[in-house]
Amino acid sequence: MLYNSTRNNLLTVTSSEAVLKGIADDGGLYMFSSADEIKVDYKELIGKSFKEMATAIISKLIPDFDTDEMKVLVDKAYDGKFETEDVTPTVKVGKDYVLELFRGPTSAFKDVALSMLPQLMRASIKKNGITDKIVILTATSGDTGKAALEGFCDVEGTGIIVFFPQNGVSRIQKLQMTTQKGANTCVCGITGNFDDAQTGVKEIFSEVNGKKLLDGKGIRLSSANSINIGRLAPQVVYYFKAYSDLAESGEIKAGDKINFCVPTGNFGDILAGYLAKIMGLPVNKLICASNSNNVLTDFFKTGVYDRNREFFKTVSPSMDILISSNLERMLYLASGFNSEEIAGYMDSLKKTGKYKVSDKVFASLSEEFEAGYCSEGETKETIKNIWEECAYLCDTHTAVGMYVAKEYEKESGDETKTVILSTASPYKFSECVYSSVGGTLSDDVFETMEKLSEKTNTPVPENLAAVKTAEVRHKDCIEKEDMLSYVLNKVKEL
Ligand SMILES: *Cc1c(COP(=O)(O)O)cnc(C)c1O
Repeated sequence: MLYNSTRNNLLTVTSSEAVLKGIADDGGLYMFSSADEIKVDYKELIGKSFKEMATAIISKLIPDFDTDEMKVLVDKAYDGKFETEDVTPTVKVGKDYVLELFRGPTSAFKDVALSMLPQLMRASIKKNGITDKIVILTATSGDTGKAALEGFCDVEGTGIIVFFPQNGVSRIQKLQMTTQKGANTCVCGITGNFDDAQTGVKEIFSEVNGKKLLDGKGIRLSSANSINIGRLAPQVVYYFKAYSDLAESGEIKAGDKINFCVPTGNFGDILAGYLAKIMGLPVNKLICASNSNNVLTDFFKTGVYDRNREFFKTVSPSMDILISSNLERMLYLASGFNSEEIAGYMDSLKKTGKYKVSDKVFASLSEEFEAGYCSEGETKETIKNIWEECAYLCDTHTAVGMYVAKEYEKESGDETKTVILSTASPYKFSECVYSSVGGTLSDDVFETMEKLSEKTNTPVPENLAAVKTAEVRHKDCIEKEDMLSYVLNKVKEL
């Protein structure tokens, strides 16, 4: 099975090349152009371990690696790295279910995919006979940077450089990154905001590629962001795992359809749910949950995507996004793999900041998806209510999902069992969570974490507690103009 650009069906690569390249040369995203080859028998997967499912599912989606090869990669990615043996447990909360994706090394759901991506990259380097070292370059507003650092830490043949806005991440997030271990890791603050960091990184890619600055030096740059198919494929696994857990515990019968409600930003997580459905998992509705940046809610209601609107900084910052990149893949699937149509939408988005989808695409989306959003007040209220009614502590992003799922159930009368994806530990957002459950904040965030723990009788994740006393290893801070020369120096040392 080959992958091709969502904007040009003729621009094809193998699955391992897609992992290495990340994005297609024409700016499109890599996708397969026939759904037949990725079908699996979900019944055969019920009762299997997370790692067995991961092996079967990821090798379907990235078929350059057979199941024997994939098993080795999966073991390396997940052995001993997560709090629980089953990686992504599902728990019952009230009448719904919560799929906990935050039990990994940095307490955010991105760990699930960013544990696997480095293994896929290393293996793809080998498979394609590449001898260059791959250096990952990432700009981060907090969560992705740390999860990527942890994933690539000391992975042979790779290095990683992360840029973050010096004054634009939380204290915990900054410490999580600056205390990062590993001989191949580099973390650097820049004076400026996240957009400056992101723009700087994009410029480095185009300068380096355009002027061939690293050619012949045994180094090539790559990216770990969520448009890489190597990040998407591992996310499909936990949809099967949640289904299997419900079937095994007798909450559903094998064959019953279930809903998934997903707190959404870049549309990667929920798209993985749609891929699970295409692969054969019995899914009824995928519910797209947004915060006040509700561009997707409007899109699913009207068929018009319009990013020309105010941007809000919310208590669920990982969902503060106005251009959801992975939606492009969904449109491609919904259009019946029509790359010309997608190229047209994306051109319109670039030129006018909006596009309207065809009736056919809109009908297909309406069949598969529901959408809703949750305000700041409703997010805090939901954390409080779920804590008081169900004794379950959830983070600000998960609360958005919880709220939207409840609203959907109320409005539609749909009684299908619903799984809400939980994307971060409440301790990553201790301050908002603690005040939502009635606590009074301390000046020191570590003290707030401890108080939250005492009040709710839940443990602080070890990795977050450890940050308090860990040695700060990365102290660089530079002007954004100096990012390119910094990278050209650093790549030699990693
Ligand atoms: C990245 C992230 C999201 C959004 O996921 P997408 O795949 O971008 O839709 C939601 N919650 C948390 C905590 C995240 O880190």
